[in-house]
Amino acid sequence: MAIRFRHEQSVEYGVARTISPLIRRVVAKNPSPFTYHGTGTYLIGRGEVAVVDPGPAIGEHVDALLAALAGERITHQLITHTHLDHSPAARLVAERTGAPTLGFGPHGAGRHERGATVEAGADLAFVPDVRVGPGDVIEGAGWSVEAVHTPGHCSNHLCFQVREERILLTGDHVMGWSTSVISPPDGDMGAYLASLELLLTRDDRMYLPTHGPAIEDPRPFVRSFIEHRQEREAQIVDCMERGVDRIREMVPTMYAGLPAFLHLAAARSVFAHVLHMMDRGVVRCEDEQPGLEARYRLAR
Ligand SMILES: [Zn+2]
Repeated sequence: MAIRFRHEQSVEYGVARTISPLIRRVVAKNPSPFTYHGTGTYLIGRGEVAVVDPGPAIGEHVDALLAALAGERITHQLITHTHLDHSPAARLVAERTGAPTLGFGPHGAGRHERGATVEAGADLAFVPDVRVGPGDVIEGAGWSVEAVHTPGHCSNHLCFQVREERILLTGDHVMGWSTSVISPPDGDMGAYLASLELLLTRDDRMYLPTHGPAIEDPRPFVRSFIEHRQEREAQIVDCMERGVDRIREMVPTMYAGLPAFLHLAAARSVFAHVLHMMDRGVVRCEDEQPGLEARYRLAR
């Protein structure tokens, strides 16, 4: 089953647009192959407002957020996860408003094993003022938000449900324009799939991802993402059966037509699949360390 991606022709940067009675969005001007048109910062409530993912450390974006909220007060900064396009502006907003940050924890906080890993793209400096866990409810003036822990893209990834509107802010866990990059070690395919299954048990009416447009009728969309990953796994099995046993060699056959500059990101996702298959005893690594250059084979 093909994923029916949702696109957005264009966006106006730095301007608050009303999405629902309780939610507005301001898009930061950081477009890229990984951020689509840019980071969408959501504003929840009126008068006393929660800012969700203040975004990259771009002064113009912070200026735009504060201008959009002139006469209002930021009471909370909610952080979906610690990537550089999501959390760094929180420090700038805090310096100018004193608004506290709420998140699952610092980068890597949701990982089971210990050991610091330095990752390109991670905001390693971020520490939330208040730690939020699954099921926690944050109350504001005329709004309330439930935190939903959805590790996978990032181990500390949270989605936030605006309860009054049954709208789930999905961060980078589920996006309309693209699949999520799952890059080990902090990215975890098994956790990601479990976090997709978790969304199927919920009754959210609509998703608002950080990048790209709203997703209405979201559950069939989530199912198509799960099926897409099952198809990727079947492709990996097929590669191994044909003797294509290194990840770098799998990528060009699995991702026909993908521009070469995205091959490394794709390889990281294949690696995440392979590790998930090793966890389940489906695949064995033939070399000492699993990695992009290691050889793998089916464990049967
Ligand atoms: Zn992002």
